Amino acid sequence: MSQIQAIKQATSLVEIIGERIKLDRSGVNFRGLCPFHSEKSPSFFVSEAMQRYRCFGCGASGDVFEFLERYEGMTFSESLKMLADKAGIILESFAPTGDDAIREKSLEILDLTREYYHYLLTKHRAGEAGRAYLKQRGVTQESIKLFQLGLALPSWDELIKYLTQKKSYTIADLDRAGLVVMGQQNRAYDRFRGRLMFPLRNHRGQVVGFSGRLLNANAKEAKYINSPETGLYHKSELLYGYSELFHEIKKLNQVIVMEGEFDLISSTQAHVNQVVAIKGSALTEGQIKLLGRVANQVLLALDADGAGIKATQRAIELIAATPLELRVIDFGHSPELLAAGLSGKDPDEIARTNPKLWRTLAEQSVSAYEFLLRAALERFNPQTPDGKKQIIDELAPVFSRITHAVEQDFYLQKLATAINVRADLVAKDLIKFAQPKNSPQSLRQMPKKSDAVEPIALTKKQQLEQYALYLMLHSSTPELLERVTELMELKLLEFGSQTVLEKLLIEANAKKAFDLGKFSQSLASDLQAQVFLWFSNPLFDEIVEPSAITEEWQKIIPELKKLHFQHELQKIQTQLNRLDGLQTKTPANDQEIGRLLQQIVTLQQKLR
Ligand SMILES: [Zn+2]
Repeated sequence: MSQIQAIKQATSLVEIIGERIKLDRSGVNFRGLCPFHSEKSPSFFVSEAMQRYRCFGCGASGDVFEFLERYEGMTFSESLKMLADKAGIILESFAPTGDDAIREKSLEILDLTREYYHYLLTKHRAGEAGRAYLKQRGVTQESIKLFQLGLALPSWDELIKYLTQKKSYTIADLDRAGLVVMGQQNRAYDRFRGRLMFPLRNHRGQVVGFSGRLLNANAKEAKYINSPETGLYHKSELLYGYSELFHEIKKLNQVIVMEGEFDLISSTQAHVNQVVAIKGSALTEGQIKLLGRVANQVLLALDADGAGIKATQRAIELIAATPLELRVIDFGHSPELLAAGLSGKDPDEIARTNPKLWRTLAEQSVSAYEFLLRAALERFNPQTPDGKKQIIDELAPVFSRITHAVEQDFYLQKLATAINVRADLVAKDLIKFAQPKNSPQSLRQMPKKSDAVEPIALTKKQQLEQYALYLMLHSSTPELLERVTELMELKLLEFGSQTVLEKLLIEANAKKAFDLGKFSQSLASDLQAQVFLWFSNPLFDEIVEPSAITEEWQKIIPELKKLHFQHELQKIQTQLNRLDGLQTKTPANDQEIGRLLQQIVTLQQKLR
């Protein structure tokens, strides 16, 4: 057995997935909310026997390596190492190749760079300016260590020299890691110069890029610059602080979303640790997926300006399709903040000047709908007809999408009272928006080619075939052989069924106890996926008691036979029609017609 196989066999897919998403037992399988598409009721199945997963909503399926690649973004060699460690197997030399090798080299370079910048900031003489700056901003030693802050010197090629001369990487390697800028005559420069450095880690804790803040505020350069998009760094999927504060977030089942790195660091220094920063104001779908892995409640702590309101509206839309609850920390309307003279300040400043107040604010969140209502009442005049119309225009599209009827009614009443309009009139306006034509929401719900969410309508024959295959695969060993033979005669149309049945026949004839997991692993991967589909079909999992398998089998086989014979009859009839339509018939044609007629008689007898 190869090492890869040994590692696979020592691995429990249910355990690996169960550590990441909540799975419940469902018959012989496990079931949970799909991590690959947004859903509120679970259609994601994991089979222990077959060591495969499948989502009946979006069609995602695969084995442990495919899961780790898709969920964790791991390369094959990374998951192999991880699983070998877990199983206590010592991995013989396994060198990654191609893209995997490039990726691992970039990770190595980025981590060395983090170490180098951190050293400059904390130990080197030249780091004094950086240390003074952080001190003045109230950043503690603990934070510097936890977030591995660093310093890029104001030089053109200090990092390049370190990585190419002391460490023997090439300029091309550095370029792939996003650390250099190519100038004229193909000369490379350090991308980050004279900046305080924040390492950006992905959800697995790997450094994938950097954000650099200018130390000298007078310079004519951008205050913040980030790594460019690389194979490793994708801005839209990164949450600053996520990996460092993962356990704090998970413990509280709640996460506060902030804008910048300093907001986040100051918040943790005020002992509010369930935070991430999105480096901007727009929360993306990828970021929401990551948040959904660790928390049920998302609290937005964004600026209360126009951009913050837009971001909140967008977040409501994105979160609507998930089980997450969205709330907002409303800086604009906090009397305590006003009393403390901190109105209009960002979380960084509030947390630094008044940590106790920041802790209080973090506990005083309002629902996202409440926040939008308050913001609208402030921007438009609820006394004038024009103002009332503007408020309704802004809120109706959002409120019309509240799925819970009681909750929707609650906000509708609130809105009606606030603008002094009869509730039934406001309700009328809401209905207008209930099915918006080209809204982003309805667009998102259109099934994509690769991501079909609508269940495909099956013909009766397809459904019966799938049911028969389901029952057969759940049969105990003595009946299996008999049932395989019966199905082979029926020439099923299901993709792959003939090949699988033939292989099963050999297996069943061997008269050993049948092991579905081993059997499935002997098949090509497309057939494995088919067998999993038949075995774990959620259509049947909940209606068939294990004790009723035989009874069900006896009920459906005659039906399936009938459909099969009818299908055969139709085929023969088509052939006959074709022969009948010939202008002149050869003796061979006549012979053929006779043979077909005989077949029809036989089939009709069988059908009786
Ligand atoms: Zn799915």
